Amino acid sequence: MKFYQSTRGGARATAPEAILQGIAPDGGLFTPEAFPRLDIEKMLPLDAMGISTAVLSALLDGFSEAEMARIVREGYAGKFESDELTPLVKVGGAHILELFHGPTSAFKDVALSLLPRLMTASRDKVGAKEEIAVLTATSGDTGKAALEGFCDVPGTRIVVFYPEDGVSDVQKAQMRTQRGQNVRVCAVRGNFDDAQTGVKTVFADDRKNGWAAQANTRLSSANSINLGRLAPQVAYYFKAYIDLLRAGEIAMGDEVNFVVPTGNFGNILAGDFARRMGLPVAKLICASNENNVLTDFIRTGVYDRRRAFHKTASPSMDILVSSNLERYLYLESGRDASLVASLMAELSEKGVYTAPGNVRAALDARFWAGCANDAAAFAAIKRVWEEQGYLLDTHTAVAWAVYEQFRAGADNGKKTVVLATASPYKFAASVLTALGENPAGGFAALDELHARTGVPVPKNLAAIRDLPVLHTDAVEKGDILAYVKETIR
Ligand SMILES: *Cc1c(COP(=O)(O)O)cnc(C)c1O
Repeated sequence: MKFYQSTRGGARATAPEAILQGIAPDGGLFTPEAFPRLDIEKMLPLDAMGISTAVLSALLDGFSEAEMARIVREGYAGKFESDELTPLVKVGGAHILELFHGPTSAFKDVALSLLPRLMTASRDKVGAKEEIAVLTATSGDTGKAALEGFCDVPGTRIVVFYPEDGVSDVQKAQMRTQRGQNVRVCAVRGNFDDAQTGVKTVFADDRKNGWAAQANTRLSSANSINLGRLAPQVAYYFKAYIDLLRAGEIAMGDEVNFVVPTGNFGNILAGDFARRMGLPVAKLICASNENNVLTDFIRTGVYDRRRAFHKTASPSMDILVSSNLERYLYLESGRDASLVASLMAELSEKGVYTAPGNVRAALDARFWAGCANDAAAFAAIKRVWEEQGYLLDTHTAVAWAVYEQFRAGADNGKKTVVLATASPYKFAASVLTALGENPAGGFAALDELHARTGVPVPKNLAAIRDLPVLHTDAVEKGDILAYVKETIR
């Protein structure tokens, strides 16, 4: 049996235990004790779901291949635009890996479509019987992706809180029209922090008073540090490589660069896991927006969050503390949990820490980093549209701008895959602005972008404005606990 260790020492768990717990009891993140190596030759005949099954059953010990195949099929089939899941398209001199063909048109669908079934299978394996109730506070995108993922999955329920005035009209409509027998969506009269603090209070209160267990329920969260969210993302790195092989763009063993638009460091860490599992990766190129803590960290080894927070046109990357970086520090420091614990304590107390020499050397060898502000990202959207006829979203545009910096300054001559994390229609007003238009807000921007470019609108986004509103609950921030207790009872 393989185990997963906490990055802060002590705790050790099987894969099902790690997925059920989310965060380790000592506050650390569960990380594989050893990485299995995959034989890419053997994966060549597999389709996208087959690749996903192979990667997940190797990485998550304790799940058989047949069982994982069922989880993957139930999670993805009929929910993604095609069974290809994550197509690779050639654009200019690069390849774009489209991760946005899931039910909410953003890359979080890849992981959140599987997480609910990984959780219920894990619960069964540890012999528990409770219903799993996921609580999430959302600033927009994660909440909707989690709602779609958990919608009508037997043995689960989900409650999502969003700040009443803190999400866009389209995001609000996406959540308020969510179907499903096991979902609740509730506005909070306050900002995102109020919603998040309220949800944290619920978890703390349950730990103290144990009311969820009395209702035969286990509270859980769907945030990006859960091993069950990281693991599904490893698969599309292998899929992209296999697609390049099939297209004759590379030969077996050739190294490839990946450019990743980064916020919490989850997506790019999955690329690092893929490399540890035998994928020939040259550089992982970390692309940040104006919130460029990671650019500085990868270049200097100093992580310094003491800086202004910028609200940008790529909001899913507006992050100053990238929680999944902790796993990378752990792995590259030789699994030094006490070092990681002390660096994380420095970060929360002083807002800054310096990585030790071995971590810096690894960062130098395997990563490259760049950042692009809104102006640079918008220029990339316009240029790639005019020159290549390909429409980037604002997050992918940051990655493209950084790809161009890499080509200009540090090119290693290898093939490069740029990860596309959202449909341009998810951020239609910004994309229109980038194209030089003066867009209206809300759903009108979808029509306008379609009229301007002819790029098809994803079906799920087009459908929302005609769906009935099913959720109108709203609470004061102090009433979140009571709302959850009422829902679960
Ligand atoms: C979440 C998100 C990101 C950032 O991914 P991380 O795993 O947090 O680094 C980038 N783009 C979009 C559209 C996202 O939703």
